[in-house]
Amino acid sequence: MTTLPDRRLLLVHAHPDDESIGTGSTMAHYAADGAHVTLVTCTLGEEGEIHLPELAQLAAAEADQLGGFRIGELAAACAALGVTDHRFLGGAGRYRDSGMMGMVTNEHPRAFWAADLDEAAGQLLEVIREVRPQVVVTYDPNGFYGHPDHIQAHRVTMRAHELADAEGIAPDKVYWTALPRSVLDAGMSHFTESSDNPFAGIESVDDLPFGTPDDQIAARIDATEQHAAKEAAMRAHGTQIPATSWLYAIAGNFGAEFMGVEYFTLAVGEKGPGTGRYGWEDDLFAGIDAAAPTRVAAAMAGPR
Ligand SMILES: [Zn+2]
Repeated sequence: MTTLPDRRLLLVHAHPDDESIGTGSTMAHYAADGAHVTLVTCTLGEEGEIHLPELAQLAAAEADQLGGFRIGELAAACAALGVTDHRFLGGAGRYRDSGMMGMVTNEHPRAFWAADLDEAAGQLLEVIREVRPQVVVTYDPNGFYGHPDHIQAHRVTMRAHELADAEGIAPDKVYWTALPRSVLDAGMSHFTESSDNPFAGIESVDDLPFGTPDDQIAARIDATEQHAAKEAAMRAHGTQIPATSWLYAIAGNFGAEFMGVEYFTLAVGEKGPGTGRYGWEDDLFAGIDAAAPTRVAAAMAGPR
């Protein structure tokens, strides 16, 4: 068996690009810091819109080649993030992008939304057995914003954690991605006067499908040193994120913090020491002794 670094982080995302938009800075931060970062992407994102006119005919309703194309985009994004261990759940093409909630694409025989929970969780369990991550990151029960594949990624991850627990190899912590209400409030007031307001038509943070009270946030990962890596990774997903996206405009206005700081709630495990008003951790491995001899021995005894 190849010996992996002491600290091992597993991220479970629904589509190519979610890793970069949601957790890109955190991934780049831990990869650069010598942790082993494993990305599992559950679908190829076949149903995505295509923002590059010259590739428009790859769309699901036409050549249906977008999923394969996005494998390359994801590889480029991972390279930008310094992440070398990336996989598709069950292998590339096993599960298909389900499209938005209520679409006929939800019923496709390979739609991830319709996946057998234990089968999909079993595939993720194989990755957990191999990598033995201490920390897992995925979405909350609403999939952060309600997309069926994000909800399913949540369910599969939580089920895989249960299965791992039954084998005595449960990761110590499971985090869910989050955005604190204070950050959203600040963003909304910043943009009220702007012509390029991403919150246009929204009166209050209460009307957004996400936004977590600050006292429920567990970790604030300041990876501002990786903001450029995150932006490069997002740009690698050119079919999905137009070069003119407001995301890049915000990045220009808010600087490194918008791209470089990411937030999480803790769903499983014990919160480590933190700082500030709400005791936010500044490290997803806070409170975990990753180099404990018993843990290393257990990992060495693993199947691969
Ligand atoms: Zn997604």
